[in-house]
Order: sequence, then C-alpha cells, then structure tokens
Amino acid sequence: MELAAFLPLSMTDIAAKVEQGVRIDMDEARWLWQNASVAELQRLAGIVRGRFHAAGECTYMVMRIINYTNVCVAQCDYCAFYKLPTQDGGYVMSQEQVFAKLDELIVLGGDLAAFNGGFNPALPLSYYCGLFAAIRARYGDTLEFYALTIAEFMYLADHAKISCAHAAQKLKAAGVRWITGGGSEILTEGFRARHSKFKYTVAEYFEAQRAIIDAGLKTTATMVIGFDETLEERLEHLERTRSFQDETGGLASFLCWTFKPYFTQVGGIEITTAEYLKHLALCRIFLDNVSRIRTSVLTQNRLALDGLNYGADDFDLPIEDEVTQKAGATISLDFERILDYARELGYEPTYRHVALAPVLNT
Ligand code: SF4
Repeated sequence: MELAAFLPLSMTDIAAKVEQGVRIDMDEARWLWQNASVAELQRLAGIVRGRFHAAGECTYMVMRIINYTNVCVAQCDYCAFYKLPTQDGGYVMSQEQVFAKLDELIVLGGDLAAFNGGFNPALPLSYYCGLFAAIRARYGDTLEFYALTIAEFMYLADHAKISCAHAAQKLKAAGVRWITGGGSEILTEGFRARHSKFKYTVAEYFEAQRAIIDAGLKTTATMVIGFDETLEERLEHLERTRSFQDETGGLASFLCWTFKPYFTQVGGIEITTAEYLKHLALCRIFLDNVSRIRTSVLTQNRLALDGLNYGADDFDLPIEDEVTQKAGATISLDFERILDYARELGYEPTYRHVALAPVLNT
C-alpha cells in the first residue's frame, strides 16, 4: 500500500489539488465538508467556477413548471402535491389549459416551461405525444420545454410496456428535445427505500437517462437536500453523478434545491440557507466535469443568488411550481428586485435562451 494512503488529509493538500485542477475524491470532499471554513470553500468553488465562466458573469431564465396532472401512484412520503387515483381533487390539464399557461409565460418574458406531474395510470403515451407535438406545432422554436422528469419518463415507458429507448424515440418524434434529471432527489438505494420505494431504483434511473442521451435528447442532473439524508448519501449522489458524466458527457447542468417539508407525510424542518450554500460550494468543487451549476431561487428565493459566490453561475426565475408551492415554497414575480440583488453582489445577469441554444452545454 502506498505511503500516501496513511497520510492525514489537510487543507493545504486538498486546496493544492483543486488549484491545480486535480480531481478530489469522496474522502477529500468529506474532509472539506467537516473541516474547511466557509471562506475556503467559497474560494475553491470560485476557482473551479472560473474554469467555466468569467468572473462577474451569470445567466438566468424566466420559466414556469407546468404540473399537468397531480394524480400519482408513487406515494413518495416527502410529497404534498399528489392525489391517488381514488382521491378527490385529482386533475389532468387539457391542451388548451397548457397553452394558456404557456401564453402567460411569454407575456411575463419567459421562454422555458418544464412539465412535472405524477405517475398517472390514466394517461397513455398518446396523451404526452399529442401534447408535446401540439406545443411544438403552436410555438415552434420561440419557446423550449423540458418534457417530463426522468422519473415520469420511466413510468411512462413502464406503463406503455415499451423500453426507455423506444419511449425516448416516440417523444423525440413528437418534438421533444429535453427530458431533465428531476425525480432524483438523493440517488442512493437506501434513500429510495426509505422515502420513495415505488419510484424506481438508482440503477434504473441512470439506465433511463442513458437511453435519453442515446436517443439524442438533452438532459440535466438534479439533487434535493434537506430530508434525512446523511453526508455519505450526499457524497454518493455526487460521486454517481460525476461518474455518469465521465461516461456520457450528457449532463448539461446540475441543479440542487432544498426540500420543503410543509404538509408532507414525512415532515421535518427546513435546512438553513447557509447549509444549502455550503453544499453548493462542495458540489461545484466536486463536479469538475459539469460546466453549469445552478442555484435554486424556487426554494431559496432571492438569497439563492448568494450561491453565485459559492460556485453557481445560473438560476431560474420561476413563475409557478405547484409541487414545491404545496410544500411551502413562495414565488416572487418581482424579477427586477431579484436581478438587482445579483448586481449588488457584483454580477451582471444575462438572459439565457434555451430555445435558441445551438449546442448541448449552453
Ligand atoms: S414526488 Fe412526484 S412521483 Fe413522488 S408522489 Fe409526488 S408527484 Fe408522485
């Protein structure tokens, strides 16, 4: 065994690796979390950020999440949004209802919608293909949409009794370009067994994401913290994400947000913004192969922009997301106030048009 294996980790050695562009491992990430000062984490995150983005630059989008159905059989215990098929209050949006939401988004200056609903057994593949084809026909390239999360995509394929590869091709033919990495929460089998045992395994999640990439669709990575996950689980999530990116290169961005516990079965209390920002810095340092690290205005409001000083470079200004709003998230449409905060921090925010993005990593 090498002598280096017995040497204790130190700030000097880990900092030197990051400064030299050498990848840190899970032990070093754990050490940083437990021992590094916030200022040192910010400094190292800034170094990695600087390899991808100019100092003082950041980007944003105005977007809305369209929760096209709240009927779901997955029964995640952290979800305050869903209704079982047998319960009152379930809904499915018509194409006209979706169009009205997209029209409103455009009026408010946005050009990105993300579809996020439940595992609704009453919806056939034709509902999704018909909806997405109608959106592409009506709006063309003037707006872009993230069609489903990976979790919903997996259910859709499963329910239609076709492979993920086949489902991806069907959606692509309907005009879909993106299926984002939502539904990941914490990517460990233990976390899923505790909280979302009907939401597929971690291995299945990555298989589905690989099928999406193989089909020529674009995708992203996500993470949610603030449940009961351990530090080891957070690190495992990051390690799996980095390895997947090494293999595929298909992750256009990484977005982490925080769990809102209100009105959920599992309950709990929110983690602090300070913990979120510290985690964001660790993500930026560890995910050395993901160019875009996004900070969550949806769950942290204006203070999410402090994340720009913790390695993040991009954020959404959302106008709606029923899933997180039902669990306690609040949304402000005072975009200028939020953008002014970025300017106060020394950043010049530039609108990022996904609809016009010519290549994967833009
Ligand atoms: S988080 Fe998503 S998959 Fe889980 S119960 Fe809620 S709507 Fe269903």
